Amino acid sequence: MRKMECQLCGKVYRRTGSKLTLCPDRATETMIREARILQVNLSLAQTYDLPATLTFQQWIATLDYFGWTCAYCQEQPYEVMEHFIPISMRDRYHPYGAIIGGTTIKNCVPACYDCNARKRNNCPDYIWKVSNGVEQGIFPTLEMIERIAQYLQIDLHNLPLSLCVSKKSAPWRNSIF
Ligand SMILES: [Zn+2]
Ligand SMILES: [Zn+2]
Repeated sequence: MRKMECQLCGKVYRRTGSKLTLCPDRATETMIREARILQVNLSLAQTYDLPATLTFQQWIATLDYFGWTCAYCQEQPYEVMEHFIPISMRDRYHPYGAIIGGTTIKNCVPACYDCNARKRNNCPDYIWKVSNGVEQGIFPTLEMIERIAQYLQIDLHNLPLSLCVSKKSAPWRNSIF
């Protein structure tokens, strides 16, 4: 039997047949589900040729930080892994992708289905627009964006100005966030 190192607690254990590297203590139903969600989102980032570096430990720490509730409304329970900067940017040379896109610790937060769906219709440049007061009454709100950016350690006022160019936004409107 192969010896494995648990990706959550680091304990060495004997492989039990599961493909997930979680020791028997940590291999709860919840953790197994999260490990799969992470895997799916890492693959998705790779598909778009974006960074895919979020570790399981980092993701669980993020969920713990937000109390397993939605990072946007802070009311509904966590239901989906949400990419602050949409994962579906097809232009990998766009500054968003180069700076903070992908499935990374700087781009992933928990969200509820409702907030995820409301955010869906907004172009990625909403972050620049909202944080610079160009646009108001848009979802997510400035308060949400600032709070989440603080956790993700994104300097909203230091994003390249090219982010506000809306010409490139059209193809993203119907993509998965
Ligand atoms: Zn463990
Ligand atoms: Zn929510």
